[in-house]
Amino acid sequence: MPIPDLMAGWQRFRAGRFRDQRVLFERIAREGQRPRTAMVACCDSRVDPAIVFDCDPGDLFVVRNVANLVPPYEESGSYHGTSAALEYAVGVLGVRDIVVLGHSQCGGIRALVEGPPVGSEPMRFLTSWMSLAQEARAAAMTPPRLPAEERATLCERLAIRLSVRNLETFPAIRQRVEKGMLAVHGWHFDLHDGLLTVFDPASNRFLPQDDGHTPECVS
Ligand SMILES: [Zn+2]
Repeated sequence: MPIPDLMAGWQRFRAGRFRDQRVLFERIAREGQRPRTAMVACCDSRVDPAIVFDCDPGDLFVVRNVANLVPPYEESGSYHGTSAALEYAVGVLGVRDIVVLGHSQCGGIRALVEGPPVGSEPMRFLTSWMSLAQEARAAAMTPPRLPAEERATLCERLAIRLSVRNLETFPAIRQRVEKGMLAVHGWHFDLHDGLLTVFDPASNRFLPQDDGHTPECVS
């Protein structure tokens, strides 16, 4: 969206939603944020967690990165943006749930499965970042004769599960999960139909969620 359109959008927001929710904005400005849930989502412009889950300001603590990956806990001196956000969400905000939200048509996962787009520039940082999901890629490449779309979906879901496992390599997260103070979740959002599937550790599957309106969505 061009800058003038963004400015026009902000003007509509300020005259509309901001004015309508003035009490909420004043309260969260005064009292600070107290989100109950943190979410690791993709940078993809089509998947905005606050829109998908119909949230108000202050509801969700969101960290977005390419392909919604969570790195494993490590103590090297590198710059760990996602780990820093999780540390803050857990240690300072005291969130009760962390959701890894993956999605269909994820460009990062597609590049991991199929290689970067032909003719694209070398992407040093992106290649390094996506190597976090190599284990998911290897597992997704195993089934023979899988259509490209299905293989990408499989890799998206395997990467979500890998990120959920990586969450529990953080001592602060693992300790809180063991005490029942925190839960971690892996969800997948489908851009085609807006449906949500949730990883169920008991059945080792992603289960469709009831959208409250469509009978066939009942899990
Ligand atoms: Zn994505």
